[in-house]
Amino acid sequence: MKEGDRVGVPWLYSACGHCEFCLAAQEPVCADAQFGGYTKNGGFADFIVADPNYVAHIPAHLVAKNAAPLICAGITSYKGIKQTQARPGEWIVISGGLIRFNRQRCAFPSVAS
Ligand SMILES: [Zn+2]
Repeated sequence: MKEGDRVGVPWLYSACGHCEFCLAAQEPVCADAQFGGYTKNGGFADFIVADPNYVAHIPAHLVAKNAAPLICAGITSYKGIKQTQARPGEWIVISGGLIRFNRQRCAFPSVAS
């Protein structure tokens, strides 16, 4: 990551990165987790200082209004889908919506698997 990169800052601002929860990809329950707009300033600000380990790269071709939902609700859904270990062709019900788990998995370009 370098200065000027286009990124999104999710609600999970940072975590310790080495506790049992962080190592199990459960960073939001880390005792040292920080949250933007709650324990850290930002979230709805025009500018924010962010931990580069907890931001998502936003591709240049993706307009901000389409990228924004992926940073919070999209990542929450993506994480939930990963936790189910669903296979292609299986159905997943998400509160408030229903999606089909397709072969291409999910189109969240900024989320590492
Ligand atoms: Zn931790």
